[in-house]
Order: sequence, then structure tokens, then C-alpha cells
Amino acid sequence: MKRVSILGATGSIGQNTIDLIRRDRTGFEVVALTGGRNVDLLAKSAIELGAKHAAIAEDSLYQDLKDALAGSGIGVSAGRSAILQAAAMPSDWVMSSIVGAAGLEPGLTAMSNGADLALANKESMVAAGRLMKATAAENNVQILPIDSEHSAIFQALMGQSRSSVERIIITASGGAFKNWSKAELATVTPEQAMVHPNWSMGSRITIDSASMFNKGLEVIETKEFFEIDATQIEVVIHPQSIVHALVGFHDGNLLAHVGPPDMRHAIGFALYYPERKPLPLNRLDLTKIGQLDFAKPDQIRFPALKLAYDVLELGGVAGAVYNASKEVALDAFMARQIGFLNMAEVVERTLHRLFARACELNKDQNLDNILHADHMGRKIGREEIQALSA
Ligand code: NAD
Ligand code: MG
Repeated sequence: MKRVSILGATGSIGQNTIDLIRRDRTGFEVVALTGGRNVDLLAKSAIELGAKHAAIAEDSLYQDLKDALAGSGIGVSAGRSAILQAAAMPSDWVMSSIVGAAGLEPGLTAMSNGADLALANKESMVAAGRLMKATAAENNVQILPIDSEHSAIFQALMGQSRSSVERIIITASGGAFKNWSKAELATVTPEQAMVHPNWSMGSRITIDSASMFNKGLEVIETKEFFEIDATQIEVVIHPQSIVHALVGFHDGNLLAHVGPPDMRHAIGFALYYPERKPLPLNRLDLTKIGQLDFAKPDQIRFPALKLAYDVLELGGVAGAVYNASKEVALDAFMARQIGFLNMAEVVERTLHRLFARACELNKDQNLDNILHADHMGRKIGREEIQALSA
């Protein structure tokens, strides 16, 4: 039996993972589940899966979780350190599906304690790609991508030599506002941005999809995961979200990964890797899809993508700054403090202030430097938010 834990079990990816485990109860022993604030769902999931332990990030919710699990025999803890302790519990496979940079240390902890890491938390790869990969190598564990594009690339690369890769193309749905003018984009509300045309996901990644920050993060994630040059990574708008990514080889052949927009395909692939087990999910009917469209992304209306390529050029800890300033800008947009287009302005100004002159940030990717870069990205980002909302 595979021992599994899920960090971020109450979120969209966490619940999709639970849905697959629920259909194969004899295949898995559930060690730890963690959540941010949703006590009811965490307790319900822990009882259903017979987890050994449940941890909630919010300290003040300890008693609520304890009450909800009274008599179940399931261990209970709360607070940031409880999440790290849950990540350290002996598991073979850990799903990293906390949203944001808050997922970095739990993911590192899981790998340091010998677990393969199923990585939905793209932010940790963006902020600390080299550290993540070095930690995996030191502990002789694997990082398995969960992001649909990166799972697609990983699968297309199986059995291929990395040196034969010429380019990688990731697709983007274009989000909810792909045809909106810049003037219209300036009026977008959080409610409008929280609806995705194809995928059902957490609210933060859904807004990131609308602003194209999600694709920016994924460009950086592609570079870190597959160690190819920024010039070899392309983004194509593909509104149907059926082709997730393509790998092009030096001989001109191109392998595309195709599937319905359901994250359980990527999660299931990683859950059983290196085996392929039958998954009870809907199959794609291409005749129902009929048509697949592709277009060039507009980097003027969606500058988040161009900023990601700037980050790749800057290197070092620039990814941590990009992500951290994006996180505070997203908070400010959701709180209606700044407008939709202001989010990219905040990130651009933050990167400019921290990297325009001699960069004061230490570029070496160790945890202290990354956490400091994250801290500075948030601090300068908040100053820029203040300036924009004054
Ligand atoms: P979500 O908001 O639905 O869930 C996030 C989870 O993290 C929840 O369990 C929440 O309680 C927990 N959490 C939030 N803040 C926390 C904190 N500070 N400490 C501990 N736990 C905390 O998000 P999601 O859509 O499931 O996305 C999770 C991750 O997967 C993100 O990194 C996202 O970019 C990535 N991802 C999601 C999808 C998708 O389809 N949802 C697809 C690709 C990648
Ligand atoms: Mg994706």
C-alpha cells in the first residue's frame, strides 16, 4: 500500500486527489491531510479516508478541529509548524497543493523526509526551482508535475532524450477576457475574474488565469522543471483547453498531449506513476470538440507573460519576487483596492525597483535568500499598491 499525504486537502486539487483515492481505497494508506481554514471539510475528508492525522494552518481553529474529530482516533494539530510536521510524517507520496508561496517549505520538508512530491504548487518551482530539484536529488525522490501543461510535457518526454528537444509549447485558454480591450480590462471585477471558461479551480488560480499571471508562472515553471532555455518556451492561446502542451524535437516532429480539462488525469498519472492504472474518468470525444483553435498571445493587453520572460532573464531569485509581488497584488485586487490591470503594474514596478540597479538581493538559491526575496517582493509590492490606490 502506498502511504500518501495531501497538503492543501481542502482545496480544488486536494479534493480531486481525494476523489481518486476514494475510488481505490485498498491502494492507499492515508497518513496526513492538511487544510488552511475549512475545518468541516478537513474533518470530513480525514474521517472518510481514515487518515492518521489532520492539521489546520489557522492556529485559532485547533479546538474546532479537535471537536470535529473527537472519538475518531485521528491526530489533530494546528498552526504553521503543524503543517510542516504533517509534511514530515513518513509517506511515500505527498501531494503539494497548498496555494501560493506558503507551499514551498511544506514541499521541501516532504521531500527531505523521503516522499516523492506531486507538485501542483507551481509557486514553489517558480520561487525556488533549483532548490526544489536539488532537494529531490539529495533525498533520491521525484518531483512529479501536476499542472496539466507540465504533466503533458513530462509524459511527452518519456523515453525521449532531453538533448533532442528543440522547443516546448504550452497552451493557455486565454481566460475569461481573452478578447477584451485594454479599456474593458480596466473595469474587470473580482467576481468576473473568478469564473473560468473551461476549468473548475481555486479562486486565486482562476484570477491568475484571467490575468495570464498563471501562464507567466507556468513559463517559469517549465524552465525550472525541464531545464531548457527561455527562448525554447512558447505560449499559444488555445481556447478549448484540449491540447495541454507540445514538445518539438530537433527533427521537426512535435508530440502533443491531448485530454479533457479535468485535473484528475494529471493527478491520477502522478498517483500511480510509473504505472498507468485505469482511471474511471470521462474519455475525450474529439468529434464532439469538432474544432481546435490556436492564436498568438497579446503581451500588450496581458503583460504578465512578458514579465515572466524578464524574470527568466534576470534569473537568481527573481521568480520569488515575481510570485510574491503577484500574490500581494492579487490580494489587493480581490479586496478591490486596485484594478485588474494594476496587478501587472505592481509586479513590474517591484521587479524594476529590486533589479534595475545592482541587485541587492543575494542570487544564490538557498532557502534564506528565497524567503528574503519573497519578503522583499511583498514589501515593495505593498508600497506600490499603496501608491496606486492613493
Ligand atoms: P485552492 O484555493 O482551492 O486550495 C488551496 C489549499 O491550500 C486549500 O486546502 C487551503 O486551505 C490551503 N491553504 C491556503 N493557504 C494556506 C496556508 N497559508 N497554509 C496552509 N494551507 C493553506 O487552490 P487550488 O486550485 O487547489 O490550487 C492549489 C495549487 O495547485 C496552486 O498552487 C495552484 O496554482 C495549483 N494548480 C491548481 C490547478 C487547479 O485545477 N485547481 C491546476 C494546476 C495547478
Ligand atoms: Mg496549468
